Amino acid sequence: MQLEAMDGNNKRARWMVGAALTAVVVVVVTTVLILGGRNVGGAPATARVWAAVASFRQGSIDLSSSPPAAARHDDRLYNGLLTDSFDEESCHSRYQSAMYRGKPGRRPSAYLISKLRRHEALQRRCGPGTTAYSNALEQLRAGSMSTIAPPECAYIVSISYSGLGNRILAAASAFLYAVLTDRVLLVDPSNDMDDLFCEPFPGTTWLLPPGFPVANYTGFGVDTAESYGNMVRNKVVVESGGVADAASTAGRRLPLPAFAYVHLHNDATVEDNYFFCDGDQRLLRRVQWLAVRTDSYIVPGLFLVQAFQGELDRMFPERDAVFHHLGRYLFHPSNHVWGLVTRYYDAYLATAQQRVGIQVRVFGAQPNSPELLEQITSCTQKQKLLPELRLATGEPTPPPPPVPASRARSKAVLVTSLKSWYYEKLKSMYWEHAAATGEAVSVHQPSHEEYQRSGARSHEHKAWAEMYLLSLTDVLVTTGVSTFGYVAQGLAGVRPWVLYKSTNSSAVPDPPCGWDVSMEPCFHKPPSYDCRLKQWTADISKDVPYIQHCHDLTWGLKLVGRNK
Ligand code: GDP
Repeated sequence: MQLEAMDGNNKRARWMVGAALTAVVVVVVTTVLILGGRNVGGAPATARVWAAVASFRQGSIDLSSSPPAAARHDDRLYNGLLTDSFDEESCHSRYQSAMYRGKPGRRPSAYLISKLRRHEALQRRCGPGTTAYSNALEQLRAGSMSTIAPPECAYIVSISYSGLGNRILAAASAFLYAVLTDRVLLVDPSNDMDDLFCEPFPGTTWLLPPGFPVANYTGFGVDTAESYGNMVRNKVVVESGGVADAASTAGRRLPLPAFAYVHLHNDATVEDNYFFCDGDQRLLRRVQWLAVRTDSYIVPGLFLVQAFQGELDRMFPERDAVFHHLGRYLFHPSNHVWGLVTRYYDAYLATAQQRVGIQVRVFGAQPNSPELLEQITSCTQKQKLLPELRLATGEPTPPPPPVPASRARSKAVLVTSLKSWYYEKLKSMYWEHAAATGEAVSVHQPSHEEYQRSGARSHEHKAWAEMYLLSLTDVLVTTGVSTFGYVAQGLAGVRPWVLYKSTNSSAVPDPPCGWDVSMEPCFHKPPSYDCRLKQWTADISKDVPYIQHCHDLTWGLKLVGRNK
């Protein structure tokens, strides 16, 4: 009885919510049609309605002052980057994220889109559950040696370790390599990689199924005998480092194992880094299974391989948008994480006129740093990202704003950090003092986990939600050399203001920050062996016009939009 009554109440409540939503949509749609003559950038009516509803959800429709509804981004497939063939319920973020973004971001090239669709077909044809996959596993179990040119279905397993930002950049790098070499990408599900993201490829899984026959592969390291570097050193493969061309030596038909481990962690040896050489890539094509271990964004290294350059140029005519596209294509928060993102965004960030993200990467044992706080305030105020304080300039307290707070210009600041101290200080500053511009500044921090606890589920959920929330801000300030910030800036499509590392921990660097040269992540440990010249080099990027050193790590490399 009671259950039935509750059921009746629930139905009524649902009906009332439904009726209220319908009324809202009718009002919004009518508003859009009435305002139809205003600048809508040629967007079709349905898109305008979609954008208006999106704006309404975000509370950003203010008929007196807000820009036309269509100013909000309305292409939920990111200009064709995503395919329409998923069940929306399985992954809300995939088709909803675009309406949370202030700017649409860069447009993917038609060639990239066609490569992605072709790659999706490959993942389906050769992925887990197919006969091709079972056969390939058989070859691996049997330890077969191969002399034939590239097998029909080949695989790369991305090992998931280290912090979440590292894992995301590693998987994105492995994916680009997979696209370039026609390999199926399989992601090792460790560290909650199976729980944080939706599946990116329709009709198949990107997760490596249980029972992978290579024992302890997740624990492989620089000394592992199966690593490509050690195979080179032990002469299991003879052609390497660009020293000889695979097609022109006696070793041309040398049998190769079905499996090789590619060690690109930051202790990689010179032989491991032969991975970035053309001759070695020709050899690796014949190895059916690769497992790669990296915690870095190795993509700039792939741009050093001559054989890949033509394809990369066609896929990414804008070289500074590689991770931007790969990230938006691959990493969709799972429904649980998306709930964390949207509830927070809707509650604290949606109504502000501008959102400023500040990522403060700190480490557990590090004391709170007044110098870093000063660096953050000095950077944000000098660059006019946040207003100066009225009292700090010695002026009298201003009169209350002439308009209600809800109509005043407002900024919402999203602080992400393992500690709450920086957030508390910033929040107090803008509460205790008026902004010189009269703006209302609110400061928010979703969590402060105190210590990095990679692999702990709820910690990982929060980390991913916060990275994603940062990517929904309009302006970003980041602490350098952090993959957490790199992921946010790439997904956002925003060049961050990077807080320079102080050489003297008790002094604030001058200038406190600089606008990064591109939104691309930095490759922290690039190779220093020039395969073409067959010699060591201090600057591997010198002949590549669109790769330059990172501001936040001088020996690191990053892709830039214009030639250096
Ligand atoms: P990196 O170490 O700065 O390159 O970034 P990673 O994301 O790879 O690793 C840092 C890890 O520490 C994150 O993945 C989180 O687990 C945790 N962490 C660091 N900063 C934050 C933060 O601001 N918020 C949350 N929730 N977790 C953080």
